[in-house]
Amino acid sequence: MKVIDMHCDTMKAILDERDKNKNVNLKNNNFTVDIEKMKQGDYMLQVFAAYTNIKEGDTLVNCLRTIDLFHNEIKANKEDIGIVLSYDDILKNIKQNKMSALLSIEEGACCKGDLGILRNFYRLGVRMMTLTWNYENELGFPNEIIGNKLVCDRGLKNKGFEFIEEMEKLGIIIDVSHLSDAGFYDILNNTKKPFVASHSNSRSICGHRRNMTDDMIKKLADRGGVMGLNFYSNFLNDNTTFNNMSKIDDMINHVKHIKKIGGIEVIGLGSDFDGIECKVEIEDASKMQILAEKMKKEGFTENEVEHIFYKNVLNLFREIL
Ligand SMILES: [Zn+2]
Repeated sequence: MKVIDMHCDTMKAILDERDKNKNVNLKNNNFTVDIEKMKQGDYMLQVFAAYTNIKEGDTLVNCLRTIDLFHNEIKANKEDIGIVLSYDDILKNIKQNKMSALLSIEEGACCKGDLGILRNFYRLGVRMMTLTWNYENELGFPNEIIGNKLVCDRGLKNKGFEFIEEMEKLGIIIDVSHLSDAGFYDILNNTKKPFVASHSNSRSICGHRRNMTDDMIKKLADRGGVMGLNFYSNFLNDNTTFNNMSKIDDMINHVKHIKKIGGIEVIGLGSDFDGIECKVEIEDASKMQILAEKMKKEGFTENEVEHIFYKNVLNLFREIL
C-alpha cells in the first residue's frame, strides 16, 4: 500500500542536530523518517515541513536555512527521491521508481507579512503552507487557551486574507492545521479551491484545540479538502497522560468518526513524525503498513484504505499543483 504523508518535521530535526555539529542526514538517521525507512514503508510521497519557531531567532532566516537543507538532502538522494513542483513531477518520479518530496512551510510568519517573500518561497519550491503555528502572527491566530477558556473566534488578519488570495493564485496549498476555528471559516468563505488540514484529528474524539470540530470536517469534505491523521497521543486520546505512547486503536477511532462525518475522501495521513514528543506504536516510517493492515481488520475495504493512504491527497495535488 503506497503512502503519502502530509506532514513531518524531519528537516528541522536534522538541522537542529547539524547545528550541534552532528553529522546527520536524510538517507539514514535515528529519527522516525529517513530514505531507508520510507522505502521499507512503501512511500510514494512525503511532505517535508520547514518549521520555524518565531520565538527562536529570525523566523525568515531559520526557514531559509531549513529549505536549503531540504534541497541539499533531496539532491544527495536523487536516486531515491525527487522534488515535486507540479503534479507531473509525481508521475515522473513514479515512472523512474523514485519517491517524491514536497516542501511545505509550517509558520506563515516567516513571510513577514510580505507577499513578495511568499512568491519567493514559491520560487524556492514551497507548495503548501500553514498560516500560523501555535502563536499569533501577521496573518492570524491559532486557537488559544486564555485563562481557562478556549478562544477560537479570532481568525485571519487583513494580511491573512491577502495571503490566501495569493496562495490560491500561485498554487500553494493552504494548510489550516494550527489555525483557529475562526481562521478556518475565514478561509472557507474566501477561497474556492480545496485546502488541507495537514496534521489534525477530530475534536469530538479528542478535545484538543488542535483538532477539528465535526462542522469543520464536514465543510472541509464538502470543499474537497483532506485532513491528515496526526499520530501524536495528545491529539488522539483525551485520557492519555501527557506524551504517553500513541496507540493505533485511537487512530482507528478517529478515522471511523471522520469517515462518518465527512466521508472517506476527506481522510489522509499527516503523521507529524519527528515533530511529536511521544512514543508511537507505529514506531517509524518503515512501519506504516501496520496501520493499513489494522484498518482492514477493523472493516475498512482495500479501496477505502487506498484512499486514506494516498489517493485522496493525490487527487488534491492533481487539482492544485
Ligand atoms: Zn504542527
